[in-house]
Formats: sequence, C-alpha cells, structure tokens
Amino acid sequence: MSERMTDPVLPGTVTLVGGGPGDPELMTVGALKALAAADVVLCDRLAPRAQLAEWAPNALLIDVGKTPGHHAVPQDEINRLIVEHALAGRDVVRLKGGDPFVFGRGGEELAACRQLGIPTRVIPGVTSAIAVPASVGVPVTHREVSRAFTVISGHVPLTEDELDGLVKLGGTIVVLMGIGTLPQLGAGLLRHGMPAAMPLAIIERGFQPGRRSTLATLGDLVRVLGEVQPRSPAVIVIGEVVRQSSVDIDSLLAEAGA
Ligand code: SAH
Repeated sequence: MSERMTDPVLPGTVTLVGGGPGDPELMTVGALKALAAADVVLCDRLAPRAQLAEWAPNALLIDVGKTPGHHAVPQDEINRLIVEHALAGRDVVRLKGGDPFVFGRGGEELAACRQLGIPTRVIPGVTSAIAVPASVGVPVTHREVSRAFTVISGHVPLTEDELDGLVKLGGTIVVLMGIGTLPQLGAGLLRHGMPAAMPLAIIERGFQPGRRSTLATLGDLVRVLGEVQPRSPAVIVIGEVVRQSSVDIDSLLAEAGA
C-alpha cells in the first residue's frame, strides 16, 4: 500500500466477489476479507448490502444497481468506473449477487481490466440457482429422481431447439430472470412433450423479508400465475425434485387439482 502511494502508476487490484443470494450468513470468508481490504466497492442491487459499511469500513461505496431514475448504471459505465479506480492505484471490489460468473457479466468486467494489465481475482459465491431452491427444501439433484440440472436465463424466450433439448435431457430445470417469459416457457415445455403433471416452484425474494414460494404444475401454471402474479427476483424450479420440498406439496398439488 505504501509503495503504491509513492508510485501512482502502479495499478490497484480488481476482485470480483460473489455475495451470495442476499443472506449475510451466505457470504464467504474470502468475500468478507476482500471487502475489509477494499478501497472502493461497486455493488449491485441483488448483492447483500445492508452491512456493507461495516464489512468495508475504509471503502468508498458506489451503488451501481440503481440511479435516481431507477435505471441500473449501464455496463460500459460500470467497466469504466472499475478501471478508473484501479488505475488510480485503488483496490477495487466488484460485489455481485450470487456467483459472479452466473449471469453476472463478470467475465466482461474482468476482460476490461485484463486488457489494461490490471491484476484481477475472482471469489466465487453461493448462487441463487441452487441456494434459493434449497431454502424451501428443494434439492436440484436427488438420487433416482434427477441426475442433472440445467440453469437457464429466461431473459429472452427459449428457441424451439432449446425447449426440445431440455425436455429430452430430463433432470431439473432452474430458471433465473424468468418471471416475464414463464408463460411461454411452460407452454413450450408442454408442446415438446413434458407432462402436464410436472411440478414447479416459484420462489420469490429468497432469503429476503417477504419471501414467497408458490407451487404449481405445468398444466395449471397459467391459472396460478394469474392468481399469484409473481414478481422478480425469483427462481423457478421445474422438475420432480420439487416434490422433495419441505413444504407439504402433495396437499397443495391436490388442492390445485393436479
Ligand atoms: N449471479 C446471480 C444471478 C444474477 S441474475 C446468482 O448467481 O445468483 C439475477 C437473477 O437471479 C434474478 O432475476 C433471480 O432470478 C435470481 N436471484 C438472485 N437472487 C435472488 C433471490 N435472493 N431470490 C430469488 N431470486 C434471486
């Protein structure tokens, strides 16, 4: 640190840190160490942030999840900020929700740093894709039930080929960013031969106040969505593993007429 202060050309480091799904208990020891040593922290909307000032007492905290107009800071601007602080000799932590390499654009941020010779490091995090289902007792794999799980983004609807591949593969499907396209996904899976009785769970705001989980089957999905109107952020799990849920799913499914 003292060397850097006398030699302003020496860049700081950039550490991409996974913050887990929102519960401070699910931050890693490495994440907390990196925050404690940080000069600057750029934080996302879904990263755990309530205690950030305590975890990173010496850091400038920059919220890139929202601006006053409620729009996220554009990716180019985030990359620019990271690089600017690192080139000024500061140790930068880029704190992201979940794992930084699961739909987190972490790779792009690291590439921007590497291009300029800035030393980088990645601290993986607990991904919501596995942890949020686990929070309601749903395992993504289960012996003799599912030996594969596929994590997909619902940001844009899947192609017919992708739907076909998913149905043929079997196993568990976990969808992130999928609330908006869930009706199309459900219809697509049915069209490609997935049974209407296939259970699914929609878990909103995992590890947050106001968590809600909704169980349905593919066949009654449209009705359930109309009743419940789930909102982002949510993780959707589709597969027989949903029957392992700690929630009493059989009676719920019976109630739903499945
Ligand atoms: N890198 C993150 C995912 C980023 S994409 C990770 O590994 O978890 C953002 C999506 O993640 C959200 O739209 C939602 O689908 C999911 N997500 C993240 N945190 C969540 C939470 N606490 N509860 C429910 N869904 C969550």
